[in-house]
Amino acid sequence: MQYRQLGKTNLKLSTVSYGASPLGSVFRNISEKDGIKTVHKALDLGVNYIDVSPYYGATVAETVLGKALKGISRDKYILSTKAGRYGPDFPDFDFSEKRIRQSLTESCNRLGVDNVDILFLHDIEFGNMQQVKDEALPCLQALKDEGHIRYIGVTGYPLKVFSESIEAFDIDCILTYCRHGLHDISLKNIIPSLDEAGVGIINASPTGMGLLTERGAPEWHPGSKALLDASKRAVALCVSQGVDPTALALQYAMNHPSIASTVVGTANPLNIEKNVKWAENALNVELAEQVRRIFADVDCTWSSGYPEN
Ligand code: NAD
Repeated sequence: MQYRQLGKTNLKLSTVSYGASPLGSVFRNISEKDGIKTVHKALDLGVNYIDVSPYYGATVAETVLGKALKGISRDKYILSTKAGRYGPDFPDFDFSEKRIRQSLTESCNRLGVDNVDILFLHDIEFGNMQQVKDEALPCLQALKDEGHIRYIGVTGYPLKVFSESIEAFDIDCILTYCRHGLHDISLKNIIPSLDEAGVGIINASPTGMGLLTERGAPEWHPGSKALLDASKRAVALCVSQGVDPTALALQYAMNHPSIASTVVGTANPLNIEKNVKWAENALNVELAEQVRRIFADVDCTWSSGYPEN
């Protein structure tokens, strides 16, 4: 396993990391036992960074992850969770200081930890950006100063929210998803400014939330029919050449030196073994170029959050 520095932080993340949203059964109903085994397998294989959120499965992912982490020494993993986006039992979004503080305490209780390494504001394009800048980010900074968290960041889908955040505040890192992979490479437009500001980059969803998997995207996937159809053609092309589309997607997404870690989700221990192995193998550049051509004339993005964000 390789490890890379996350921006100016002193965190060294495994280049492939574990995304815990599947532990909340967001892609399919999972077995808790398999989910826990997957976390243990990931750590055994050298994965040292785990990402979660209270939103995933309306707190279920954090609870299952907490069970998996029980008894594991806290220095064996780097943990991020998020605040601001919640499940159906809560108001969906709340970026107020009061809720963020309460949310972190609740997350730590579910996860069975005293602190988290990174706290992200979750999908800030759904917030009021003024509140995010004037209240939520200063709240994260205060939590950092008080020693409850080590680093702060934001997550979101529109790239604009990252540029605005780094202009407004001294954040440590961002978590972006579905913007640097086989179907969409638009993250490259903002990588130079993030690098210049020393902001660490974590890239999630290398398969585009299931687009580049043989199972295909889940029902709730926000992509257009054209994107889903193109993805099916891309998967078929990989399969016809004897290449697992998820392997190609992961290797392609990881192939950028500014990205500290690529977060993949799964609740299947065999998948995590494959992902770690694939991460160590070289990208089939020719096939990746053929797949990229399939997406060339397709609008591979979707809208997320308030239009003004
Ligand atoms: P992903 O691209 O990692 O895809 C997950 C899908 O790929 C699942 O269906 C999984 O079963 C499948 N998969 C994984 N490994 C496989 C393998 N070896 N073979 C076949 N299929 C495989 O998308 P994701 O789970 O949405 O993203 C990863 C993580 O990134 C999340 O769990 C979450 O932690 C984080 N994330 C954060 C945000 C945010 O903060 N806004 C958004 C998206 C993702």
